[in-house]
Amino acid sequence: MSEGRGLLVVISGPSGVGKDTVIKRLLELDPNLRYSVSYTTRRPRPGEVDGVNYHFASRDEFERLIREGAFLEHATYGGNLYGTPFAQLDQERAAGRDIVLKIDVQGAEQVRKRAPDALRIFLAPPSMDELLRRRTERHSEDLGEGAARQHIAQAEMALAPHFDHVVVNDDLERAVKEVLEIIQAARQRQT
Ligand code: 5GP
Repeated sequence: MSEGRGLLVVISGPSGVGKDTVIKRLLELDPNLRYSVSYTTRRPRPGEVDGVNYHFASRDEFERLIREGAFLEHATYGGNLYGTPFAQLDQERAAGRDIVLKIDVQGAEQVRKRAPDALRIFLAPPSMDELLRRRTERHSEDLGEGAARQHIAQAEMALAPHFDHVVVNDDLERAVKEVLEIIQAARQRQT
């Protein structure tokens, strides 16, 4: 268990790179980690549960939360709004638990400015072809949205060097181990 305030761990990278799978595995392996549940205006995908995967909100509700200063960061992605609420972060970190954020690169940039102590990790695909293949397999987007996301993904890849660490998600268990080692090293620096 970590002593004092918990870490803020940002996991970013292009949509489809496997952030959800990596984070799910991290949470299984490390009992001191918690997942930050974001707000979004996009519709739930089959199997997604409100309050677990996201807090699903209307645009009006989301805009009200922005005005109230409820978000550490928020960004527009593929026409929808996404944001990280402060409340859960503060609670977990004050209790000494580390919290993991799954956010896009715009959000990660805002976190760097507002929470400079954050540990920012970029997950990269082994190649752009592999990224496209994984997203096609997921069947979660229509073609128009898929093409737009591929364009966004290329711009996002260019930002990888801005992160504290870049981890290639070639093999799930290997990538998860590397992320866990990065988190462990940061905990040790903190204590
Ligand atoms: P998806 O719709 O596929 O769940 O997520 C689309 C993108 O939004 C992904 O790159 C995901 O990491 C990002 N995202 C999810 N939650 C947040 C958030 O709270 N803030 C920001 N900036 N991006 C987020």
